[in-house]
Amino acid sequence: MKIGVLALQGAFAEHIATLDRLGVEAREVRLPRELNGIDGLIIPGGESTSISRLMVSFKLRDNIKSLAKNGLPVLGTCAGMILLAKQISDSDAEPIGVIDIEVKRNAFGRQQESFETELFIPALGPEPFPAVFIRAPLIEKVGNGVEILARLADGTVVAAKQKNVLVAAFHPELTNDLRFHRYFLNLVSGQSKQKDRI
Ligand code: GLN
Repeated sequence: MKIGVLALQGAFAEHIATLDRLGVEAREVRLPRELNGIDGLIIPGGESTSISRLMVSFKLRDNIKSLAKNGLPVLGTCAGMILLAKQISDSDAEPIGVIDIEVKRNAFGRQQESFETELFIPALGPEPFPAVFIRAPLIEKVGNGVEILARLADGTVVAAKQKNVLVAAFHPELTNDLRFHRYFLNLVSGQSKQKDRI
């Protein structure tokens, strides 16, 4: 299994380190040809407007969009989640639009721009997940067919999945808990089994 990690800007090295710890081959993706042969793709956190601009100038945006539409498992964390959304309520960056959610950038007030909290994520089991939020976005609206995976105590949606696309407003790559990445890799293995059957 080979996982591509979009390496234009932001926390890509941390995702690669997490994949290393899980014994999974990772490939930095900066050029369209580096998307060939990957089984899944991670779009990291960082600055969504910069990543969005770079994705267009490196001619990656349309390729990523069609791969995701064709079923390639994609994980977007924080800025990566913003870029995968159908709509961003407060930015003129044009998102890729492969998960039916509307997100709001920098959604948490000043005092709480960055914080860590224990999240209950049923899909990962009963142990709470240590979620790190850094100038994080939130999910304001969720369309039909989107599975909500995690909420903050006040009900705010912070992780979701629609078919092959998984997003989190927080940074699972910055903790020692590997369960979120493992969940994504299960999605990837499920998808390649399906490919084998065709
Ligand atoms: N606030 C950033 C943005 O809007 C996202 C922050 C992050 O990825 N940690 O792009």
